Amino acid sequence: MPAFPLPRYISDERLLPLADKVLRKERLTFEDGLLLYASPDLTGIGAMAQHVRLRLHGRKTYYVQSRRLSYTNICHTHCQFCAFQAKPDDPRAYVLSVEDVVRELSKPENATVRELHMTSGHNPKLKIDYFEDLFRKIKAAFPQIHLKVFTMIEMDYYARNSGLSVEAFLDRCVAAGLESCPGGGAEIFAPEIREKICIGKKEANTWLRVAEICHGRGISTNCTMLYGHIEQPRHRVDHLLQLRELQDRTRGFLAYIPLAYQIEDNELSRTYEIHETTGTQDLREVAVARLLLDNIPHIKAYWVMITEGLAQIAQNYGANDLDGTLIEEEIAHLAGAKTPQFLSKNQLERLIRAADFEPIERDNLYNEM
Ligand code: SF4
Repeated sequence: MPAFPLPRYISDERLLPLADKVLRKERLTFEDGLLLYASPDLTGIGAMAQHVRLRLHGRKTYYVQSRRLSYTNICHTHCQFCAFQAKPDDPRAYVLSVEDVVRELSKPENATVRELHMTSGHNPKLKIDYFEDLFRKIKAAFPQIHLKVFTMIEMDYYARNSGLSVEAFLDRCVAAGLESCPGGGAEIFAPEIREKICIGKKEANTWLRVAEICHGRGISTNCTMLYGHIEQPRHRVDHLLQLRELQDRTRGFLAYIPLAYQIEDNELSRTYEIHETTGTQDLREVAVARLLLDNIPHIKAYWVMITEGLAQIAQNYGANDLDGTLIEEEIAHLAGAKTPQFLSKNQLERLIRAADFEPIERDNLYNEM
């Protein structure tokens, strides 16, 4: 890669030592992370992140043809930020049967889907035999679809609900067809924030421990952080560095996805005065992640939560993945996301090309199609 005049893009002189580190491929520290949040120089921060992105991926931007499906919205955990959960007596409550899922995937609009992304509520009625049956029948009918299921907290819940260790539960799910896991459920690791935004959800150590178990068994996962609510920059840096530390040990995270908090129809936004995240905040989250997470290969701009236009721009702030077509995304939309329910392959490719990047369709493990 040719020498890059990075300092030329930086107006906040406090960032110059960080730019030096970036050019020398040195790891950034906790204090560096705080500065990345404190500095008003988003252009400089974006230039540093983009330098890393171009070094790792050139101008390639990945996406996958993906279907979202939640097998149940019944949840006995109570996250204050969640508009998706329903109690069993709620008229909105549902559980999909295996036949419902197979019927849904058989619809013509799903013919080119390569990834099935399933996360759902914590429903005490569902145990290991439901998942084994579900995964086996999906893989039998659609062997080309990659099964990406369970947040780390969800896996812990259903393992305990089935009277199994996480290891035993995971092994049985993998034998039935599970291939990888999404990155949700991490929220913010700091316990003082967790107890206000997702009281009742298992603590951060559970999320990290289950991820480590998955990685140890060769099951890749993604990782996330929910930002833009009541957390402070120090909580975000702490969260990102805990992910980086685990990745140093396991190398099992494929991608990191910053998740912008959606304010509609949930208890958290009724309790605290919280505003929607702004464009500069969303771009900064992408850039900071690219700079701090030096060992996680891919950074996604999740267009569902930050809009298609901003995700397109985020390709210049460190993002090298626009996630996917995301047919029928439900969880973020119930919390107020104003974006379309899905984007076609052509729409995604147009967004990527119009920003002078090269669209690359991938499978879930980043094999190019
Ligand atoms: S985020 Fe997940 S675990 Fe939390 S209440 Fe919603 S469905 Fe339940």
